[in-house]
Amino acid sequence: MYSWRKIRKMLKDKDLDTLKGILSGKEIMVCPRCGGHLTLVYLPPRYTGYRAVYDTYLECNKCNFRIRVSSYTVYGAVRDFDEDTIEISTWSEMGSRETRRFYHVLDQALLKKLKEREDLVEFLVVNDTVLVVIG
Ligand SMILES: [Zn+2]
Repeated sequence: MYSWRKIRKMLKDKDLDTLKGILSGKEIMVCPRCGGHLTLVYLPPRYTGYRAVYDTYLECNKCNFRIRVSSYTVYGAVRDFDEDTIEISTWSEMGSRETRRFYHVLDQALLKKLKEREDLVEFLVVNDTVLVVIG
């Protein structure tokens, strides 16, 4: 079972498999208030420009604790990256080209490949950290 603080640490430590388990509902998170179980609730995506925004909440099954998890996808190409950050060439909500920088927990070899090929892919961003490449 995992607390929210542990999850932030996992993001930092790049403990990605556990994190994926939590986000997919296979692992259990603990409510910081009462010790109940937190469930991840996704609302249907909203589309703003080229971005799908997922309203995601962690809800307790016992008390009224609820925390919003900022998660959305960014469609674009890897422009540059280093160990901790990634630059994604994407489009703004107005449709003009822009470059955005995020923290990431992605594999360096994968990033190198994506950068070389200039592939357009979708990145899942959770709390300002790129967690997974979706497509
Ligand atoms: Zn609770």
